[in-house]
Amino acid sequence: MVGGGYGGITVAKALDDVARVTLVEPRANFVHNVAALRAVVDPSWAERIFIPYGGMLVHGDVRRDRAVAVREGTVELASGDVLTADYVVLATGSSYPFPAKIEDDGPQRLHELHTALLGAGSVLLIGAGPVGIEFAGEIKAAWPEKRVIVADRSAELMPGDFPEEFRVRLREQIDEMGIELRLGVDAAEIETDLSFRCYGAEVNTDYLGGGRVDVAPHGGGRVDVAPHGGGRVDVAPHGGRGVEVTPELRVRGSGTMFAVGDITALPELKMARLAGMHAEVVAANIRSLLAGGTADRTYAPQPDAIVLPLGPKGGVTFSPEVGVLGAAESAAIKDGFYLDMYRELLGANG
Ligand SMILES: Cc1cc2nc3c(=O)[nH]c(=O)nc-3n(C[C@H](O)[C@H](O)[C@H](O)COP(=O)(O)OP(=O)(O)OC[C@H]3O[C@@H](n4cnc5c(N)ncnc54)[C@H](O)[C@@H]3O)c2cc1C
Repeated sequence: MVGGGYGGITVAKALDDVARVTLVEPRANFVHNVAALRAVVDPSWAERIFIPYGGMLVHGDVRRDRAVAVREGTVELASGDVLTADYVVLATGSSYPFPAKIEDDGPQRLHELHTALLGAGSVLLIGAGPVGIEFAGEIKAAWPEKRVIVADRSAELMPGDFPEEFRVRLREQIDEMGIELRLGVDAAEIETDLSFRCYGAEVNTDYLGGGRVDVAPHGGGRVDVAPHGGGRVDVAPHGGRGVEVTPELRVRGSGTMFAVGDITALPELKMARLAGMHAEVVAANIRSLLAGGTADRTYAPQPDAIVLPLGPKGGVTFSPEVGVLGAAESAAIKDGFYLDMYRELLGANG
């Protein structure tokens, strides 16, 4: 297992009883980044989003290291060690500007940012996607007196396949909270005490590069990266579409490598919930292969769905199953940020 985020821990845990699992992860703690923006404004969350990996695996182990080169059956680590495995699962996710995703292992930077926010009269969030909107809601709910602006060059609020009613109800709550929404503008012209980039996720797949990029088209084309000595793995450029996978979630062109979570090039939103669903498919396929069977569980990309909180009391939800839900229901769903579920998975509930 390469990467101990939402997808990686789910696969690792599911295979712990049938395989010798090694989870390679550079951080000492799992970072529950789904609650990161709440943790910025509410210091009582700052410690809680870091959950130790120590209680998760009974048989396997977690190696605190970073994969630098991955090829069929082999994972080379930053420490110089080389691991071999019958199956390798890539689950290295994506990076996002702080504080939406946090590279460190501790709450220190969150506390520093909290202090900086306390002293700021105005805050600019650049990007009117889920992170910009959620962050604005958190700041405005915690400090209603602060001026909070969300700006985006695009004229669209919340990109994605959501019905008009979703955006209308979101817009109503944004207005009620006094968040200033400026769409179709250049954020560089807006002056505030603090500003945050709330766009630009990049997939973490450097270890597949190996400096052997065959084609590198600019602007969304695909880069074909050949892993050393192995099959061919297709990887999109930074911030692009990620690793191409088969319906069984095998890395396309590979026999024994699978991929889950944000690094996959599947045409769907990048969500922890979906990383968990990918993980279940991959774990079932590897279980079957270990028992002498075939990898016949397949995954179908999921339609867009989101529970978007706007502070502890607001938010809007959409899924094709439930339709659009408003503030009270969305806040109730997001109450607790699913922390207990992930603590349970990580064996951190005592
Ligand atoms: C602010 C915010 C709120 C969100 N809220 C929600 C939500 O409410 N619901 C939801 O479903 N989704 C939500 N998401 C999306 C969710 O966080 C991502 O989809 C999820 O993190 C993807 O999980 P993953 O396992 O693919 O990767 P990640 O969680 O990104 O984990 C990847 C792991 O791999 C490790 N890693 C990276 N490189 C290497 C390497 N070379 N070697 C070894 N390890 C490596 C990293 O340290 C990390 O631990 C939110 C995202 C943000 C930013």
